[in-house]
Amino acid sequence: MRLDKLLANMGYGSRKDVKNILKLKMVSVNNAIIKDGKVHVDTSMDVIQVGEDTVHYQKYIYLMMNKPPGYISATVDHTEKTVIDLLSSGHQNFQPFPVGRLDKDTEGLLLLTNDGEFGHQLTSPKKDVTKVYYAKIDGHVSDEDIERFSKGLTLEDGYQTKPAKLRILVAGKHSEIEVSITEGKYHQVKRMFAAVGKKVTYLKRIKMGLLVLDPSLKKGNYRELTEDELTSIS
Ligand code: URA
Repeated sequence: MRLDKLLANMGYGSRKDVKNILKLKMVSVNNAIIKDGKVHVDTSMDVIQVGEDTVHYQKYIYLMMNKPPGYISATVDHTEKTVIDLLSSGHQNFQPFPVGRLDKDTEGLLLLTNDGEFGHQLTSPKKDVTKVYYAKIDGHVSDEDIERFSKGLTLEDGYQTKPAKLRILVAGKHSEIEVSITEGKYHQVKRMFAAVGKKVTYLKRIKMGLLVLDPSLKKGNYRELTEDELTSIS
């Protein structure tokens, strides 16, 4: 892999920034100063240093974000802000993509990675990964709704959902609930409530498989997954 690409990927700035670092003789490969970014390095063997730092090459990144409302789950868009806009340029250099989608107004747990296989494993309908959402609902959610969700619902387009687990957290005219689903159809939670005549007014994903949204992550913040978290969800 080219040295300049590796350094850009590892967060040492744009290709232009990297060129400057190289020009300043700050980069060495196996203790020899290298000024030419075109030089190829073997990431499994070569010792690459920038100043005092040894660069530990990482091919894939796995990020947990607390998605804020107002951002779309896409990599590029001509009119809307995307979740990628919330990442540092160092992380953007890895070219991550969101794993599955949350609606523009939905908040909460969103994974981003550049590992296609990992993304596929989590979004494949065959894998049945459970997603848990917290929601505020306009209307009384009843035991009858719990029953209907548990049997699977027919959505407005005729789609029959898989069984879903509904839990009432706060009962009343404005209910608060937790719902667990194993599918990821377009607007699924909103459409499931529409099917029982109710409107979702707030939606936040709090869990995917065994992975729980880190409560210390403020809206719009993100961090890398720990080894344990990555193992738990892979
Ligand atoms: N269901 C929805 O309706 N919206 C989301 O963003 C996620 C699940």
